[in-house]
Order: sequence, then structure tokens, then C-alpha cells
Amino acid sequence: MSDISIARSIKLKHINTIAEILGIDADDLELFGKHKAKLPLHLIDEDKIRKSKLILVTAMSPTPAGEGKTTVSIGLAQGMNKIGKKTTVVLREPSLGPVFGMKGGAAGGGYSQVLPMEDINMHFTGDFAAIEKANNLLAALIDNNIQSKSRTLGIDPRTVIWKRVMDMNDRSLRNIVTGLGGMGQGIPSEAGFNITAASEIMAILCLATDLMDLKKRIGNIFIGFTDTKRPVYARELNAQGAMAALLKDAIKPNLVQTIEGTPAIIHGGPFANIAQGTNSVIATKMGLSLSEFVVTEAGFGADLGAEKFLDIKCQSAGLSPNAVVVVATVRALKFHGGASLKTINDTNPAAVKAGLINLDKHIENIKKFGLPPIVAINKFPTDTEEEIAIVKNRCAELGVSVAVADIWAKGGEGGKELAEIVAREAENQTEKFKPIYDWNLPIKEKVEKVAREIYGADHVEYTSDAEKSLTQVEKLGLEHLPICIAKTQYSFSDDPAKLGRPTGFHITVREIEIAAGAGFIVLTTGSIMRMPGLPSLPSSEAIDIDADGNISGLF
Ligand code: ADP
Ligand code: MG
Repeated sequence: MSDISIARSIKLKHINTIAEILGIDADDLELFGKHKAKLPLHLIDEDKIRKSKLILVTAMSPTPAGEGKTTVSIGLAQGMNKIGKKTTVVLREPSLGPVFGMKGGAAGGGYSQVLPMEDINMHFTGDFAAIEKANNLLAALIDNNIQSKSRTLGIDPRTVIWKRVMDMNDRSLRNIVTGLGGMGQGIPSEAGFNITAASEIMAILCLATDLMDLKKRIGNIFIGFTDTKRPVYARELNAQGAMAALLKDAIKPNLVQTIEGTPAIIHGGPFANIAQGTNSVIATKMGLSLSEFVVTEAGFGADLGAEKFLDIKCQSAGLSPNAVVVVATVRALKFHGGASLKTINDTNPAAVKAGLINLDKHIENIKKFGLPPIVAINKFPTDTEEEIAIVKNRCAELGVSVAVADIWAKGGEGGKELAEIVAREAENQTEKFKPIYDWNLPIKEKVEKVAREIYGADHVEYTSDAEKSLTQVEKLGLEHLPICIAKTQYSFSDDPAKLGRPTGFHITVREIEIAAGAGFIVLTTGSIMRMPGLPSLPSSEAIDIDADGNISGLF
């Protein structure tokens, strides 16, 4: 059965019933129909947060298809509830780009999905639209200031780094010229669009702790320079008030349910390369305030998503996770063991064995943060007993807990074994979580730590452009910010072709960008796409709606 037909076969509970599980007063729910509600921020309770357990789901280096972090997160939360642990799954919201492009939705799969998946995958409660509007208001204010004679800040249009955004894969908008048409129509400038998930506003919304913090961070957005090389920030355009006003509802997390009626909070969706790649701080804190356990996901493999989750988000929000689930699949192990993408569904125990070196390194990395790694083998219909046994044996050799997660085919029932282990490890945590670097180190030292410790690189090189930007970061007094390294998710190195566990390599920082509002410095190690394109056969061609409003073709 397809994901959407499984989803449609489920009779959803009223969202009031899900809120009751969490002890939320019906009066506190801001309803969006019968199955979605926004949660007011006053439900966040720091005392309860300290007592609850935070479980991060990450993965080994993936194949292009994705190894099932979202699906395992949902299945694990369902499994936790089945063994009597009050658990909420907290996730990012899908972007329309991939829904209509290649990947389809991002609401889990099989019997581990969040519902209503049609809504979650398309528009949901309008948060992305609000983020787009806030982002584009700033773009309009910048252009207007450049046009204005009376109130000009003297912004040099050639230095403006702020782009417009839209939640669609549309490559024709990557590089455009705005302001054509003569004197009254703006100043002709090179401009462009990013996808909404790549907006700094998205990153800000997901790190903000409340509305006032959101406003302050928006004011700190670095826009560009004046003709006299003075840096200009959004607050100089008095942009922060109106932008925060546009986001007054988007800042509130969204409550929905899984296929099994487990509470799910879905909020925010920043990119995992140029941003932190994980749902909002507010949503995570909300989950921890309302249940004993929160299961959450960070994008890409553990070298990227988990590293940023732990070094940026947890540090910024004062969160301390209790266990980390590393999703491994037999197909990704084969891929890292030398099998070609076309053959990863064929039985190949030798390749599985050869690919274990990739999983080993991710396990080592999680231990470096002082956290217990738990390997979840996300079971696919094509996996054989022999292949699964190879992974289990390696984990036994390493003394790492492991469980098969059969959550796609069986839902929470197939996640009970994993749930028991996660609950045990989180409740008996002995070590204390420690980040890989101290925010106060110079930028280069922070990068060196991540590159050596997490990627296994020998050293880091910088292009002359990157060196110039570093000087600028220093001049602007932003050296104390954490770093967000944009790197390929397929390899520990910056070369997607180096699979497995590469050694004897260096990484090259090509560009450096300042996300002063979000509060991190982005270091790019390859070409990073901020506005994806559609494939020649977009998945939107299979999506349809009938006379009764039933949607098909989403996966
Ligand atoms: P990630 O969050 O790691 O990107 P997802 O959970 O979104 O991965 O899964 C990627 C795709 O693989 C989804 O379409 C999902 O339905 C599918 N999938 C995940 N786990 C399984 C499984 N065990 N068997 C079959 N398909 C799966
Ligand atoms: Mg995912």
C-alpha cells in the first residue's frame, strides 16, 4: 500500500483528544480545523523541560533516497508509547520544493507517519507563507531605502546579500535582475530567490526562544555595506517590528498526531547545510514541557545534522540530550561498501560488511559528545537475515546497543525493542553531554575541531575569498558565534564520491557567510544549492485531487 492510502485508511482522532493526552486545556488550543492546532508559548515550562528526556535521531551517511530518520523518529515515538513511556515526536515541517520535485513528502512512511499528511506536506498552518512574507518585506524595505532620496542609509546595492524567497523549486529565479523599467521602478540590481527553507528568517524562527528574542534576532540581520563600507543591519530599517508581527502565529508550534494517535509537534524547517537543519527550539521545549520523552530528528547524516543540533541548537537553547539513535540501513551500508546505487537492493553481505566503517565513525563521533549511541537498523523489505546479523555483530563488538526497527511495516509494534533500549539508555545516562567546541574559540579553531574530530580530516584550507570574509567576521565582532559548516551529506569529506570512511583528506572552505540574526557563521565547502530545480519528471505530475477532495499521489 502507498503511504497516502495507508494514511487515508486511518480514522483520525479529534485534536482535542491528542491535547488531552498531553494534559493541555482545550481552551489553550488554537484550532486549525479538527486535526491541527497551534500551541501557545505559555505552555513551555522550564522545570518540566529539565526533568524530561531528549532523544535525537540521526543517521549514518545516507544514500540519495534517505535512510528513514523521520520514519524511525515517528515509529520510535509510537513504540515508546506502547511500552508506557509518555512520548511526543517533534519534527520539521516539509517544504513544497521536494514534495513536488523528487523526494515526495517528509511526513514519514508506511505505518509510521504523521497525519493529516496531505496538509502537513502542503501549506499546513501557513507558517512557511508567513516566513516568506517576513523575508520579502525586508527585501522590499532594502530596495525602497536604496531608491529613497530622503531617508537613504547609503546602502551599496552591489553588497546586499539579502534575497527574496519562495517555497517552490524554481531554478529560473536563482539569478535575476530587478528594478528594470526606468527611474520610478527601483535601481537595476542583480538579485535572486532562495527556497523559503533556506531563508535566514527560518533559521531565526527555529532558534528564537520567544517573540521578543525573535524580534531582536531579526534586527541583527546583516544586510550589506554602505558606500563607505559601514555594515548595515535590519534594525536600521526599523524592520524587526513589522517582521515579527507577521510571524506572531508562525512562532507557535503545531500539534498533530501519528497514525497511532501519538502526539506530534511539527514546527519550522531550516535547511541542514546552510542552517541548523532541525525543528524549532520552541517546539522541542514544548514537547519536553508536555511529555516525559521527546524524540526529534536532525537533517542529513550525523556529521552534519547531529553536529549542528548538538553544537548550535542545544548550546543556544541550553538543552542537554540524553541519547542518540543512529539510523543505519542495509542499503546504505552496501553503498558505502562499494555497491553501486543501482544494485543496493540486491543481496550482498560482503558489501554490507565493507560499509560498516562508515557506521563505526558515526558511532565514535556520538561518543565524543558524551552521549550513548543506539543503532537502529531501519528494516527494508529487501534486507536478509544474514545482512542484518552482520550489523548486529559489529555493534556487539563495539559494545553499542542495537535493535531492528521494523516500524515502516509494523508501526509502534515494530519499534518496541528499540524503545526499550532508548528508554533504558536515556534513564541510566552516566556521562554528561559535552559539545565538540567552545563558542568562544576563534572561528578557525572551531572549524579545525569539527573537521578533525567529526569528519576525520587532516587539516582545513581556505580560499582567499574565505580568508577575506574571515577578516570581516572579526571586524564585525562576530568571532564568538558558533559555526555552521555546509558540506555534502554523502561523505565525511567535502567530496561526495569519497564514501565509507575516508582518511588522508583535507576540506576546503570556499565561502563564508554571516547569519548574524540567526547567530552563526556559515562556512561553505562546496557548491550549495539554495534554490533547487525540478527534475524532468517532477513528482507533482502524479499528484491529483478528486471531486470529494481526496488527494492522491503524495508519498
Ligand atoms: P529521512 O528523514 O532520513 O530523509 P525518511 O524517513 O523521510 O528519511 O524516508 C525516506 C523515504 O524512505 C520515505 O519515502 C519513506 O517512506 C521510505 N522509507 C523509510 N523507511 C523505510 C522502510 N523501512 N522500508 C521502506 N521504505 C522506507
Ligand atoms: Mg527526514
